[in-house]
Amino acid sequence: MECWFTDRTETFGIVCRVTGILHRERSPYQEIVVYETDQFGRMLVLDDVVMTSEADEFVYHEMMAHVPLVTHPSPRRVLVIGGGDGGVVREALKHPSVEEVRLVEIDQRVIEVCRRHLPGIASGFDDPRVRVTIGDGIEFVKGVRGEYDVIIVDSTDPIGPAVGLFKAEFYRDVAGALAEDGLFVAQTESPFFDAPLLGEIHRSLREIFPVVRLSLFSVPTYPGGLWTLSLGSKRHDPLTCPLERARGLATRYYSPEVHRASFVLPPFVQRVLE
Ligand code: SAM
Repeated sequence: MECWFTDRTETFGIVCRVTGILHRERSPYQEIVVYETDQFGRMLVLDDVVMTSEADEFVYHEMMAHVPLVTHPSPRRVLVIGGGDGGVVREALKHPSVEEVRLVEIDQRVIEVCRRHLPGIASGFDDPRVRVTIGDGIEFVKGVRGEYDVIIVDSTDPIGPAVGLFKAEFYRDVAGALAEDGLFVAQTESPFFDAPLLGEIHRSLREIFPVVRLSLFSVPTYPGGLWTLSLGSKRHDPLTCPLERARGLATRYYSPEVHRASFVLPPFVQRVLE
C-alpha cells in the first residue's frame, strides 16, 4: 500500500510519497510530524504544512542566514525568531564574527523533535554561542532595545501564534531591538499565492526602514516553489554591500553571485511591491 502526504490550502497543494512516520505528536501549539519520504528524505511538518526537508533545506536556511549576515559588515549578536528546526542557527554559526545566536522559539517540542530526528539540520544547538529562549518572539522583541545586529524571522505561515509576526507593529518592535546599523529579514511567503500580504508587508517596512529589499529563491517543498525573503535595514544595503566575506562560507546554494541575483525581481513581483 502506498502512503502519500498532502500539504494543501483550500485551492492548491503538494503531494509527497511517504515511506514512514518517524514521529507524530500534538504539542500545546501544533501537530508535529516527521515523515520519511522517497523524494526529500526526512521532512518536518507542522499542522500539515511542510516546514523543511533534508533534501532542500539548504536553499532556505542558507539564504535566510547569509543574505543578512553578509550584508552586515560585522554581525556579532544575532536573534532568530521561530527557527526551531535549527537550520538558520546552524548557518549563522558559520560566521566567525558572530558571538551570540539567540533563538526564540515558542514550541520547545519542535526543537526537541528536530534534535532527535533531523540532527543534520538541528546540529548547532550545542555550540557555546547559542542561547535558546522558549517564548513568543512578538513579546521578546518588545523587551529589548538596540541589542541585535541581525534579526532573522523564520516563522511558520501567518496562522495562530505567527499571525503577529507579519504585522507592522512587530516590525516596529524589531527596529527597536536592532542596533543603530542593524538589519532584519523575514520569510514572507509566496509571490504567487500571498501577493496581497507581501505588498502590505513592504508598504509597512518602507515606513520603518530606509532600506527595504525582496529576495527570491526556490524551495521545491513550499507551495509554488518560488519563495521570498523580505529585508529591512537601518543602513547596510544587500545590493551594494561588499561580498568578500561570502567567499569563505561552506554553502551549496548561497554565493556572492546568488546573493546579488536573488534581488533581481520579475515585473509581476515588482508590481506586487508597489
Ligand atoms: N522555514 C519554515 C517556514 O518558512 O515555514 C519555518 C520553520 S520553523 C520550524 C517555524 C517555527 O516558528 C515553528 O517551530 C513555530 O513553533 C515557530 N513560531 C511560530 N510563531 C512563533 C512566535 N510567535 N514566536 C516564536 N516562535 C514562533
